[in-house]
Amino acid sequence: MPKRKYILDSSTLQFLQHRPAWTDRLLRASIGFGISILVAVVYIFIFNRLFGSPKEKMLADKLEETKLEFALLEHRMDNASVMLKDLRSTDNSTYRPILDLESIPENMSQGGSGGTDKYSNLTGLDNSDMLISAATKFNNIKTQTNIQYNSFKELTADAADWKRMWENLPYFRPVDVVYRMGDGYHFREKHPVLGTPRWHFGQDFPCPPGTKVYATGGGTVKFAASEGDGYGKKIIIDHEYGYQTLYGHLSGFNVKPGQKVKRGDLIGYSGTTGISSGPHLHYQIDLYGEHVNPLSYITNDLTEEDYFKIIGVAINSSEKN
Ligand SMILES: [Zn+2]
Repeated sequence: MPKRKYILDSSTLQFLQHRPAWTDRLLRASIGFGISILVAVVYIFIFNRLFGSPKEKMLADKLEETKLEFALLEHRMDNASVMLKDLRSTDNSTYRPILDLESIPENMSQGGSGGTDKYSNLTGLDNSDMLISAATKFNNIKTQTNIQYNSFKELTADAADWKRMWENLPYFRPVDVVYRMGDGYHFREKHPVLGTPRWHFGQDFPCPPGTKVYATGGGTVKFAASEGDGYGKKIIIDHEYGYQTLYGHLSGFNVKPGQKVKRGDLIGYSGTTGISSGPHLHYQIDLYGEHVNPLSYITNDLTEEDYFKIIGVAINSSEKN
């Protein structure tokens, strides 16, 4: 209950209750209110100085959280970098040597040049070190990934070319008579038919007339006819990469000029046409127009099983001639 204030009326000698004017009361209330506001402001100021404002605290928490996320990101980038390095090492030591490609130089993988200049937009900030470190790592990974991507692209293209070359080169026996091989690549003092000295530029495979003759590598049939050059009915296959094979003294053809063939395709039948002393296949390999010894290409031969797999004939089947 508010205290009442009394004053003495000297004329009546009585105490009368003092009632202040409303303006006085308003003034006092205003001063009280003002002081309360002032105290509150001072209190908030001191509290904020000591403990920070709730907004500041929220921002500080957020910053700590961001720093943690950055640390985690850097850790993941370090892991990615190690994996890329491992991949490059395997690439350099295994894949590239197989295809005779040079190794990727080690210094090419270190994120290129430019130093910290290229991060000038990140300098002068509160967390510049953190941002530059992350940006550097990210750029290194980007560079390493690009190098590795290009390396694998090169490997894929080269591997496809090598595969095609292996499919085309004449690494195969033209007839299944390996154990009864005839005259080879050498200088003949006396040709068996002509009786004169003459080089024999191929490998002869004595075999019964009608023996199946197979393409020794993939390519295109360049010639399939008689030419009056002593080889009788002959087939020439162009294997690209500088290689051509010739199959002479044939009795018949199973291909036409311009036809594409694969290794092991049946191209014709052996015989004894042209200048020949008896039934056999004359087989010849030319590399860039120079005769080479066919045996050099047949010695590292396939197993019987692989051979028949290629020509599509089962071992011991009646197809085998
Ligand atoms: Zn011959």
